[in-house]
Amino acid sequence: MSLDYKREIAEQVSDYIDEAVELAKELIEIPTVNPPGDEYEECASFLVSRAREYGLETLTIRVPEEQLPSLTLWGSTLPRVNVLARWGAGDGPKINVHCHYDVVPPGKGWSVEPFKGVIREGRLYGRGASDMKGALAASLVVAKALKDLKIKPWGHLILSFTPDEETGGRAGAEFLLTNGYLKPDMTIIPEPSEVYNIWNAHKGAVWMEVILHGKAAHASRPKEGINAFYAMIHVASTLMKNREKLESITSAYRSIWGAEKPTINIGGICSSGGAVNVVPERARFTIDRRLIPEESMEEVEDELRKVIEDSAKEINVDVEVRTLLRAEASSTPKNAFICGVLSRNVEMVLGKPPTFTLCPGVLDMRHFVRAGIDCVSYGPGLMKTAHAIDEYINIEDISTYMKVLALTVYDVLAQFSPY
Ligand SMILES: [Zn+2]
Repeated sequence: MSLDYKREIAEQVSDYIDEAVELAKELIEIPTVNPPGDEYEECASFLVSRAREYGLETLTIRVPEEQLPSLTLWGSTLPRVNVLARWGAGDGPKINVHCHYDVVPPGKGWSVEPFKGVIREGRLYGRGASDMKGALAASLVVAKALKDLKIKPWGHLILSFTPDEETGGRAGAEFLLTNGYLKPDMTIIPEPSEVYNIWNAHKGAVWMEVILHGKAAHASRPKEGINAFYAMIHVASTLMKNREKLESITSAYRSIWGAEKPTINIGGICSSGGAVNVVPERARFTIDRRLIPEESMEEVEDELRKVIEDSAKEINVDVEVRTLLRAEASSTPKNAFICGVLSRNVEMVLGKPPTFTLCPGVLDMRHFVRAGIDCVSYGPGLMKTAHAIDEYINIEDISTYMKVLALTVYDVLAQFSPY
């Protein structure tokens, strides 16, 4: 593998930038909003036809209808369609680039149309531009470019395009992995990590719902009832006092977004009672607890339950605790093969080695790590604009990513090549 040859590949791949941006625009124009999971069928068939045009083999995998209620949190009557696209030959390594095509709802206050794909001053604007349709388009066009360049692969590049990442990924990444559709040797997820940075770890999350049961009474005789709202305040205050303890825990992973501490968010959803003149008999609130990789999800969950139950017992109120989401933190060691190859190519393209950091959000990475696959997240999007109003991606970053990805795929598939 001569360096000159690699420079030539990078050079040639950068000629495909306009095609990648155009494809990203077309994808932004399909509003695959999740929740609930709109336009998945349309987006999946568009991806299949484009991948076939590029000369890739494709496979469409629909989640069976009867499994949808257990694998989705919202929109369980809507189809969940996964797409695999493959390029390569022989029995060499399988490198997977895993992309989700769902996007979060746009929200209000945009200065451009969220589903138009507007180009302005070197940026592509639109919902999903950074997270992660820009990266998805770039990855697909890289596969085309490698094929056009007539590079002889030994092994396969497998692109996976999945729905539902924004709501847990159970009908997407997890479905493909647990049912044996996807068995790569290594995976890159081009989430918006920013082009100079690789996420080799991410935080986990436990979501809980706490329901306090009191006793209704007329508001003119409050002593005859048990006010569930007061009980909620008591339990929530106890949790808030415990919050300070989290400040004393720090992850050994490096973070550039202050992600090294565990956090708790209380009351994201909260409700109580139904009438001004009634003592509320029921009150509920949610908890979003974020874990660093060093914490055990079971221990965190047990501890929260204990604090809540003890606190409710102090005031003799019945409490119900439900876990809504369990997403473990996960990581891939920095000395894994994929980390080395990716890091070398980032350095080659940008002139300096990337940082390896802990992602503050939950990633599909955990499904891969659980399946024993080395997985990192590296992509061109910007963390600060993902999920935000006026989301955008820098076109230059898409170009950087395309070069890094092409060289990484080349290195992996050329590694054991008999040619
Ligand atoms: Zn994402």
